[in-house]
Amino acid sequence: MRSIKNIHSDKESHWVGDGFYVKTLVNHLEDNPDFNYQHTDPFLLLDYGKPTSFEPNSNYESRPHGVGQHPHKGFETVTIAYAGEISHSDSTGGYGVIQEGDVQWMTAGRGIMHEEFHSPAFSQRGGLFSMVQLWVNLPSSHKLTAPKYQALKRADLPVVELKDNKNGNIVGTAAIIAGQWQSASQSQDTSGAASTFTAINMWDIALHSAGSTTLQVPSTHNVMLLVQEGELLINNTPVAAGSLIQFEAPAQTGVDSQIEQASKQSSDTIELNFPTTATAGETLAPVKLLLLSGEPIGEPIAGYGPFVMNTQAELKQTFRDYQTGQFGK
Ligand code: MN
Repeated sequence: MRSIKNIHSDKESHWVGDGFYVKTLVNHLEDNPDFNYQHTDPFLLLDYGKPTSFEPNSNYESRPHGVGQHPHKGFETVTIAYAGEISHSDSTGGYGVIQEGDVQWMTAGRGIMHEEFHSPAFSQRGGLFSMVQLWVNLPSSHKLTAPKYQALKRADLPVVELKDNKNGNIVGTAAIIAGQWQSASQSQDTSGAASTFTAINMWDIALHSAGSTTLQVPSTHNVMLLVQEGELLINNTPVAAGSLIQFEAPAQTGVDSQIEQASKQSSDTIELNFPTTATAGETLAPVKLLLLSGEPIGEPIAGYGPFVMNTQAELKQTFRDYQTGQFGK
């Protein structure tokens, strides 16, 4: 079992533009010795927007809620719409609407100009809005890759069933956004919908029935679990909505494991128990979780605002390029 190291739940929400009310639960710029980029590598940033109610916006055509044009360079942004819709457009001519349940995986690579707003349809009707945005680092070998999008519709995400450890009943599901789902009871792995530059798991998990189930995560990965809704026991520790669970650092490095486990990657377990007071199998208001794990890239980073490079010299050059109109070229 991979032990819990810390539970982060004390962050205040803040506004990003006037559209996204988020808690920043991972931030590569923080130097907390117990929870910094070394512990979250390759994840640079995690903004979680809990369900927040918006009035209809009758000025949406001239004053949409959101964030106007801004740059990104050196990493990927992953946006998951849980409630409401986000429209986006960028300097490569890409545009679209991320609808409820969809995932947008944007590779900024060598540079992109980007804007993100509530969609016209959501602006007109208003209602609950909830999202996650992650920044995933790129290794130095791919930092200057060409920008691209992966628009992943909910229906395109492979879904696996989570089974109760005792009786095998289905207690929930996991949509495999990225990575490999390993299950003791299933003979083969399920591959996620997104292509990634490094080994990453991103699983959108919902538990709907009382019981206990086990997740298998690679023993070489940094691992985090976001609790979005509900309460449950994780490795026998009670956790509540709005918490980010940080697990202990991987015991092995990727290099060691390649030598020792050339044929099959070894895994650690995480026990989910939901809830202790209900009768086993009882249907309940769902618990929603986002599991994030990744093989650490292990490279130095130099980041400021929307740019994350490997050295201060690269970061300075990026600012010069941005000021002189050479950005992304
Ligand atoms: Mn952006």
